Amino acid sequence: MEMTRRQFLKISGAVAATLAVIELGFDEKGAQAKSKEFKIAELKPTPTICPYCAVGCGILVYSKGDDVVYTEGDPDHPINEGSLCSKGTTVRQVYTSEKRITKPLYRAPGADKWEEVDWDFALDKVAKNIKETRDRTFIHKENGLTVNRTDSIAYLGGAALDNEECHLLQKLFRAGLGLTFIEHQARI
Ligand code: SF4
Repeated sequence: MEMTRRQFLKISGAVAATLAVIELGFDEKGAQAKSKEFKIAELKPTPTICPYCAVGCGILVYSKGDDVVYTEGDPDHPINEGSLCSKGTTVRQVYTSEKRITKPLYRAPGADKWEEVDWDFALDKVAKNIKETRDRTFIHKENGLTVNRTDSIAYLGGAALDNEECHLLQKLFRAGLGLTFIEHQARI
């Protein structure tokens, strides 16, 4: 094989640099460990639960200010012990995705488009609809028994809810409003 002078110098330089690194005791594994340490250094880890499915794996979310920098499985969590499936591994995209919805959307009766509304409008609308429906359909007695319930409103929770939130929601919907159709996806 013929080699030009320029090619020869390039290859010689690369070999010399590699030998120099080996001579200096370059430790690839140590460097990788260090780079991971640097990656999460000074970031604040916050434990949370994966919002995607009923398994309920634990995740550590590393943030800096308002920015979510890195996520990984929580090694101290009894369900997943640090492992995550491919979906849970991408959980940071809940925060970074351009398709993330950051404002409430409202579609008026008969409309074919969603429009952005503010939280005051959305919360007032939900509260008004719940009150109207409950007032209209509330059952005080059935077969001579006091039942105090409505069968016309259902509540469906998601895996992102934690135990405390579920506890409060049960109080509100079961004891406060008289709902009987209450479901939740997570089974932890
Ligand atoms: S990491 Fe995967 S298995 Fe675990 S809760 Fe999330 S989606 Fe479910």
